[in-house]
Amino acid sequence: MKNICELTALEIRDKILAKEITSEEVVKAIYDRIESTDNEIGSFVFLRKEKALEEAREVDRKIANGEKVGELAGVPVAIKDNIVSKDEPSQAASKMLEGYKGIYDATVVERLKNSDAIIIGKTNMDEFAMGSTTKTSVYKITKNPRDLERVPGGSSGGAAASIAANQCYISIGSDTGGSIRQPAAFCGVVGLKPTYGRVSRYGVMAFSSSLDQLGPIGKTVKDVALGLKVIAGADEYDSTAEQLEVPNYLEYMTGDIKGMRIGVPRECMIDELNSDIRKVVEESIERFKEMGAEIVDISLPHIKYAAATYYVLAPAEASSNLARFDGVRYGYRGSDIENIDDLYLNSRSQGFGAEVKRRIMIGTYVLTSGYYDAYFKKAQKVRRVIKQDFEKVFNDVDIILTPVTPAPAFKLTDKKTPVELYLEDMFTIPANLAGLPGLSIPAKEIDGLPIGIQLLGKPFREQDILKAGDAFENKIKERV
Ligand code: GLN
Repeated sequence: MKNICELTALEIRDKILAKEITSEEVVKAIYDRIESTDNEIGSFVFLRKEKALEEAREVDRKIANGEKVGELAGVPVAIKDNIVSKDEPSQAASKMLEGYKGIYDATVVERLKNSDAIIIGKTNMDEFAMGSTTKTSVYKITKNPRDLERVPGGSSGGAAASIAANQCYISIGSDTGGSIRQPAAFCGVVGLKPTYGRVSRYGVMAFSSSLDQLGPIGKTVKDVALGLKVIAGADEYDSTAEQLEVPNYLEYMTGDIKGMRIGVPRECMIDELNSDIRKVVEESIERFKEMGAEIVDISLPHIKYAAATYYVLAPAEASSNLARFDGVRYGYRGSDIENIDDLYLNSRSQGFGAEVKRRIMIGTYVLTSGYYDAYFKKAQKVRRVIKQDFEKVFNDVDIILTPVTPAPAFKLTDKKTPVELYLEDMFTIPANLAGLPGLSIPAKEIDGLPIGIQLLGKPFREQDILKAGDAFENKIKERV
């Protein structure tokens, strides 16, 4: 029999509702699991055991009394460290926010609590969500639970690792250029970046505001669908969260994808693609065909510029968003301060890590008056053209299938230049630039390393990629 930590969010929720197990027992089992595994893996940077147990007992009480409970009743979930929660450390894994505690709950936190989920703690990440390894965290390194010598990916590396290591059931991450999907692929779990505007970002530390989106990571596509349902929807505190009804995603997951039109962009099957990844994408295409989907050869001619475009726009927005961290208002204040210039300079020089500083410098550079037209404005134009590429192909196909990453998880000790790391995101960034939903699902393991595929959908049509992803997941389980 499976250990309870290995069950899915839906399975555990149903057991709790059926009173086969209490939420308190589940929460205890989860903390035991974290205590025995997290020294090695390092998914978590903050745990709230006492509060979580208290909340679990409250859910158990409601169930025992026959009171109405929410959709994640009693289920342990985790949130990324860039999501604020009231009176709890919320640091975006940066020294700059050392000692900072949230003064309110982010909307996603509030929604998880309203659904009766039990938040067990905060997960490790790259500093301010900038990175693809989780190695830029001020706290510690997180290891990939599938292979402890490898990176879990990033920036939501702690979130993906927490799911892969059975330390919780749903983990909320953020994705600006791939930070949910890439770690999900590296760790062999499911990750969803919703459409830009699907989930409120109120209470999330902004990295690049026109790209950032929160989303769930889970063990199965259905768990992720449930997680999205709970956190999605309009929010009076975030005007970018669209006033659209949130579908009941699980209802769409019928397993039947006959006739669905799946586009495969020529431009993704590039020569530099790792041969294992190519093989997995090709095999996945066969699986979709077996299920009755129609594979369509499509072209997205401008996505080859996506990474370059992103690495102008994201730092530009970051340099402006991070201006608020000045040593006056939050977190860290630098030492050796004699005047106001020292205050800003020393606080920021000492508080930010190297990658964050690099982005602030690039961002400030591309926004200066002499270079604005050449870089920032140009990148905005390319972004528009990439979006138009997608609009065009979505007249003909329902969803798009691509690799998630150009290669599987690399070694913690691998030395990669910043640009090599930036190119890791070539397949995930287009969805952020175009604001589309993207789902990363494990497709196969080769030499013990998980390899994922990515499904992209039309704006606000998460149900299409979830439905196809769920059917695919069931199909590959059949073959094992
Ligand atoms: N790896 C990308 C970056 O470094 C994506 C980060 C993210 O999605 N937050 O910017």
